[in-house]
Amino acid sequence: MADVSSNILEVDNIEVVYGKSVTALSGLSLKVRKGSVVALLGANGAGKSTTLKAVTNVLPLEDGQVTAGAIRFSGESTHGVAPDRLVRKGMFHVMEGRRIFTDLTVEENLTTAGFALSGRASLGKEGYDLVYGYFPRLFERRNGLAGYLSGGEQQMLAIGRALIAQPSLILLDEPSLGLAPKLVEEIFSIISRINREQGVSMLLVEQNASMAFSVSHHGYIVENGKVMLDGPSQELTRNPVVRELYLGVHSDSESKRRSYR
Ligand code: ATP
Repeated sequence: MADVSSNILEVDNIEVVYGKSVTALSGLSLKVRKGSVVALLGANGAGKSTTLKAVTNVLPLEDGQVTAGAIRFSGESTHGVAPDRLVRKGMFHVMEGRRIFTDLTVEENLTTAGFALSGRASLGKEGYDLVYGYFPRLFERRNGLAGYLSGGEQQMLAIGRALIAQPSLILLDEPSLGLAPKLVEEIFSIISRINREQGVSMLLVEQNASMAFSVSHHGYIVENGKVMLDGPSQELTRNPVVRELYLGVHSDSESKRRSYR
């Protein structure tokens, strides 16, 4: 596992309101230790995506705002820092739904992500090699239009775009969404390798709790805009409530369920 010594991200007691009336988060706090993977779990509408959007300062695009609390990235407040500056400071948000440019080629998609680096470093061949090393399928399809990639390949490209920006923190919103189980496994194993080999910290929102626990060091369970429970992922997987609600296992009928399957 990567070195985990201090916090790269601290979200301290934040409140988020959309359109001046919908309170999506109230008093939510979490930490991401440097080099670690943190999973954010919770039902639909719990506030997981909103948490990521608050961190990367994109809420104003949806008429939302952080109305209380503080967010610190590498010890510095992110208050009022434009999203593109946060990218240059080393934070990259892979949004839900594989936001890629479908009418650009795979390689052009990587190049446009590299523009985010301007002011930090130029995009050399190593950047592309790094992405293609983790995702050989993207190399094979580098000259094809991204719109013709399969869902899984588009997700790989979305993660590749993050990687090429050489971030210290990647925020991933539901990388498994709509993908077949085998592909989900492949993508999560690459996510885990990127964390270990590149030392990139990650904050991961995921509905697939067993996958999320398998790659994360720490987990937070969010309900109604608040953290209800958190702990090391291995401990959470032993918690009876988490097992029942998020892993679909009833402690008193485990054997029965196994036999049903
Ligand atoms: P899901 O897994 O369904 O994406 P989530 O945990 O990510 O759920 P959010 O999308 O963060 O939840 O939503 C949290 C709350 O904020 C919900 O009540 C949702 O209806 C509300 N909300 C989210 N986006 C907006 C928006 N743009 N305008 C108004 N309300 C919003």
